[in-house]
Amino acid sequence: VGVFFRPIDKINSVIETYPKGIAGFQRYQQFLQTEPDIADRADAVPVDRLRGDIVYRGAGFGYQGGRPILRDLDLSVRAGETVAFVGPSGAGKTTICSLLPRFYDVTEGTITIDGIDIRDMTLRSLRSNIGIVQQDVFLFAGTIRENIAYGRLWASETDILAAARRARLDAVIAALPEGLDTVIGERGVKLSGGQKQRLAIARIFLKNPPILILDEATSALDTETERAIQQSLSELAEGRTTLVIAHRLATIANADRIMVVEDGRIAEQGTHADLLAMPDSRYRRLQAPSAEGA
Ligand code: ATP
Repeated sequence: VGVFFRPIDKINSVIETYPKGIAGFQRYQQFLQTEPDIADRADAVPVDRLRGDIVYRGAGFGYQGGRPILRDLDLSVRAGETVAFVGPSGAGKTTICSLLPRFYDVTEGTITIDGIDIRDMTLRSLRSNIGIVQQDVFLFAGTIRENIAYGRLWASETDILAAARRARLDAVIAALPEGLDTVIGERGVKLSGGQKQRLAIARIFLKNPPILILDEATSALDTETERAIQQSLSELAEGRTTLVIAHRLATIANADRIMVVEDGRIAEQGTHADLLAMPDSRYRRLQAPSAEGA
């Protein structure tokens, strides 16, 4: 989770217009300073809304100065499909997903969306097509409205409320004396873990990207909250190309396709039923030690 956290802040604060307020602005500056070498090519073009057909072809990658993590990775995800990445810790699931918004660039091969190399797109337009939800929600000191509208300060109240409703945050907002204008954060109202998750989901509903990355780290939420959040997440995934770094059996079993990642490669892929039916599959072995866990 930690590995992914930094870049996500960056995607929100730098790529979309950074939020109003001191906290938001300070973060924005911090991320500018930690910005790695990813930049627009001189001839990069902005893309409009993508369909979300994703293809990794011969993709290779290693973190700076380190050993190769991904080698000759081939992977394709059709528009609208939900793919769950499973596999042992350190196998490369997070790395595979973080190449898509170009937190890092491949060193070999290509990644295309709708047939266009993602390095030929402007970062801003690429990232405006991708929503990311992870366990560590990044909120800044400000109102609920600003936090939902994060980076889309032009969003209308109607759209913000609709997003809140779809994320089932509307009852929480209605119960607060100042509603959408309630200040959250250190000086304001403290949100529970589940409420923060809902806020993050509302943010993505408002953004409405065709591509979604879900980092489903094992959670500290209680089972009931967890289930409600899961429900919102599956609604969020509807109609979007979704890559899930999956840890929950329910998510995995419901995915259109499961990719078993091992040592930076896709070792097996198929539906839950396909993989279970394969005698002696890695997938079966992964499931054996813990039914619900990682
Ligand atoms: P987990 O299920 O534990 O999150 P994962 O399958 O998502 O694991 P990655 O996080 O992609 O695996 O890690 C793949 C490899 O890359 C690991 O060996 C990890 O130590 C290494 N790695 C990940 N992030 C970085 C980084 N920022 N710098 C250097 N090495 C990294």
